[in-house]
Amino acid sequence: MIPTIILGFPRSEGRSLIDALIVVGVLVALVVGAYWGVRFASISFVRNRLGRLLLSRVTTRLPLVSLTFDDGPDPETTERFLSALGDARATFFVLGMNVRRWPHLARAMAEAGHELASHGDSHRTMTRVPPRGTLRELRRAHRTIVEATGETPRFYRPPYGRFNLASWLETPRLGMRRTLWTAGARDWEAEATPELIAERILAGAAPGAILLLHDSDGDPGAPEHTLAALPAILAGLHERGLRSVTLSELMRADVS
Ligand SMILES: [Zn+2]
Repeated sequence: MIPTIILGFPRSEGRSLIDALIVVGVLVALVVGAYWGVRFASISFVRNRLGRLLLSRVTTRLPLVSLTFDDGPDPETTERFLSALGDARATFFVLGMNVRRWPHLARAMAEAGHELASHGDSHRTMTRVPPRGTLRELRRAHRTIVEATGETPRFYRPPYGRFNLASWLETPRLGMRRTLWTAGARDWEAEATPELIAERILAGAAPGAILLLHDSDGDPGAPEHTLAALPAILAGLHERGLRSVTLSELMRADVS
């Protein structure tokens, strides 16, 4: 009665208006909930409970991990990362726009036995991109990788680990797994020295771990620090009896 009186409607009209407002309110709450719910998927507490919906670790007893590198290819650094990796195999989450500029570097990654995965097209924060723009981002990056390398990406990691609802839904439609990481090194930060980067990565190195690094972007000089950390990372993995393989190979060892 009280809302009816405040709104000044006769009882029946007031009620139907309130009912309509409730329906609209519930719909808005559902949309906002889905959007923020998906966004919150990038928070570790939540993502560890999402199981098969979101890949952030592989369950295996084999002594395997996956080193992953975001944001390339990059003419300044990619080739040096490829030679520093030696026998280790990694997965490069490349940007479509960079692959179009330097397709030969993307091919060099694949020819060296590494895996190419999608990091989207232009490194926009997906939670700020409307649905149509999101679909364009994902589809364009996917197509670019296939055209440049002949490899079909099987994993998608959004910039900053932030999915929006459209990217969450589109990723499996393109045949890719939604992917984040087990541990990262915050190697884009200016204060991340090579020692610190190696320490952070090795702290997360356990069977099935997906380890996040960057071969491009970040603070000026950041990829150089990551590059300088690689020998210590590879030696540390070796000491622990661990070996880095591509994400697809790590998935083949999955026993979950
Ligand atoms: Zn990135």
